[in-house]
Amino acid sequence: MVTIDQANQDFAQKVQSMDGGETLMLCFQCGTCTASCPSGRLTAYKTRKLIRKAQLGLEDEVLSSPDLWMCTTCYSCMERCPRGVEIVDIITLLRNLAVEKGVMSAPHKKVGEMLVKFGATVPLNSEYEDKREALGLARKPANTLGDEKALADVKKILKATGFEDLVGGN
Ligand code: SF4
Ligand code: SF4
Repeated sequence: MVTIDQANQDFAQKVQSMDGGETLMLCFQCGTCTASCPSGRLTAYKTRKLIRKAQLGLEDEVLSSPDLWMCTTCYSCMERCPRGVEIVDIITLLRNLAVEKGVMSAPHKKVGEMLVKFGATVPLNSEYEDKREALGLARKPANTLGDEKALADVKKILKATGFEDLVGGN
């Protein structure tokens, strides 16, 4: 059980002071976000609850929660929120804070690894290539998936920015 004495009073202020976190305290817990959330229909994730925990300063609870990674960033909640809470921006910045503490969900890490390896989160395969050809397109697109120099450039950037190390390298 989580108790309020586990709250870090500075956490909500910190989130509010960051880009994208300014609207955190506008949430009045109506639950429209939870009702709109396609991910919440299939998992235990409750958007409203996550926002409330962040408001209360339950830093460890929020940043270590698997729920934080359940959002698909579909924006359904944000479009409907009556208080204009920038929910997806808040979730994104909470994820960034979690990663700073060494917490990242395995599937997200895997997607990051794909980016490091292929310069794209969805690699090409022969089925896609056949479909492209059938449409009269080059078998490979003129991006990191089809251009070695573009891929080398992206890899350089991912290394220089520390992203490669973050997701476990090549
Ligand atoms: S819809 Fe907006 S105001 Fe309502 S609970 Fe969600 S974030 Fe809070
Ligand atoms: S953006 Fe995330 S939290 Fe909002 S409705 Fe979509 S999946 Fe749910």
